[in-house]
Amino acid sequence: MQLKFYPYDLKFDEVFAVSANARTGTEIIYIELYSDGQVGYGEASFPPYMKEKRTDNLDFLAGLNLESFNSIDAFVEIQNYINAFPNYLPAKAALDMALLDLKGKTSNQNVRSFFANEPLKSIPTSFTIGIGEDAFLIRQLKKAEAFPIIKIKLNGDINYVKHAITLIKSTTQKPLGVDFNQGIANSKVALELLDWLHGQGVQYAEQPLPETLIADFAWLKENSPLPIFGDESIQTIEDIESKHHLFDGVNIKLMKCGGLTNAFKMVDLARQHNLQLMLGCMAESVCAITAAANLASLFDKVDLDGHLMMTNDLFTGVTLENGHLLLGTAPGMGVEKK
Ligand code: MG
Repeated sequence: MQLKFYPYDLKFDEVFAVSANARTGTEIIYIELYSDGQVGYGEASFPPYMKEKRTDNLDFLAGLNLESFNSIDAFVEIQNYINAFPNYLPAKAALDMALLDLKGKTSNQNVRSFFANEPLKSIPTSFTIGIGEDAFLIRQLKKAEAFPIIKIKLNGDINYVKHAITLIKSTTQKPLGVDFNQGIANSKVALELLDWLHGQGVQYAEQPLPETLIADFAWLKENSPLPIFGDESIQTIEDIESKHHLFDGVNIKLMKCGGLTNAFKMVDLARQHNLQLMLGCMAESVCAITAAANLASLFDKVDLDGHLMMTNDLFTGVTLENGHLLLGTAPGMGVEKK
């Protein structure tokens, strides 16, 4: 089995701002895994949100030796070899994608059939609107027109929250969710904001507080009128074990947990703890978004829109129709390099 990988910089069509930062692109690693006469594709993304750095993950990939594995038949042994190394979760996510893509192509099956009895081909997704001025919000609302639900990035500034939500509600009747990306300072301010957002008909709030404020999250969950989803707080399966009691739901992302195989395990554990499930993404290209879409039928909410702002995507895969992602029928994960 031969592993190739290369760094790539994805560019956005507009500045994307959340509570902590604003940027115009994201660092990626693409991988290609060759075996059995096929190629499997994978992608690792490194937004500022991730503590892992691209250079470290490139070094990790350079140190792997997959040449001793002769076929994708050694799928489990290869996974065990990779997972024996600590950390490098984005690179592991990319490797997991490539292995599953190869396994699907060599067995003539869709990757989604590995995980679900009734996999979705048409997936309703939310559209995410970053933080910005009125003209930006209005442009983004135009782009969001076809989507069934809108997720709005907010910060802890009560004036911005009220202004942005009022503007958005004057333009659309769509269901709204909000994501603070840890932007509120404490639980008292958070409750004030969540009470107001509940009164506006907002459906859920994601990561209102910094992940370190464990006691504040416990208090907020008891008092909030809105369901609270953990994102930055819950990255891996171990985080579900230790923090499930702080949240009503969890946003599961391939880059945080190390791929589809781990995400599938997280779904099972999260259900045991009665957590609502959101399938999310980072700023990623069609490659990683299509990979995640193969798990969509297992989730209550799908937020796979990270690819929609890219201007230099190297892949084709899921297509977009009326606010829904459509998966093709080809064996494997469903992506091709342009
Ligand atoms: Mg989030």
